[in-house]
Amino acid sequence: MIDQIIDYNHSFVAQKNYERYITDKYPNKKLAVLTCMDTRLTELLPAALGLKNGDAKIIANAGGLIISPFDSAMRSLLVAIYELGVEEIMVVAHTQCGACNMSYSHFRPAMQARGIKDETLDIISECGIDLTQWLEGFHDTESSVRKTVTTIKNHPLIPKDIVVRGFIIDSVTGALQEIQ
Ligand code: ZN
Repeated sequence: MIDQIIDYNHSFVAQKNYERYITDKYPNKKLAVLTCMDTRLTELLPAALGLKNGDAKIIANAGGLIISPFDSAMRSLLVAIYELGVEEIMVVAHTQCGACNMSYSHFRPAMQARGIKDETLDIISECGIDLTQWLEGFHDTESSVRKTVTTIKNHPLIPKDIVVRGFIIDSVTGALQEIQ
């Protein structure tokens, strides 16, 4: 698949199909969106929010979550604010998210079936990494969104004038529901 993508890329560039995407690194709408990596949202989310190339910083991970106050998603939000002028943040979870009810009890046998050894899992635990917690999903999408919004709003490095609002987007229709 990657070889096919490389071939496609050569013709994309040769035909100058990039020209309509040209913009700079500063988000025109001064907006960051923290959302899920779900492939149903790849085009749907920007289309449903009316976002074009250059409009918003879109940060996507499994579930659209802040796992800890100093994780990669939080770091990206800080970069978006301090380096790129973002003033508003939308946390956008979605319906039927794969990270909902995700659990280490599913990961562990899947990892073992793919050749990951018990010793490896034990060593990681001994290093103080709690895989059960780290690979845990959420069980209630609304409360998960509220938690993420609260974590961002209360973060010691987030300026108080940054607007943070939470939503669930319908994975089929793109309809946004605000979570208060
Ligand atoms: Zn998801």
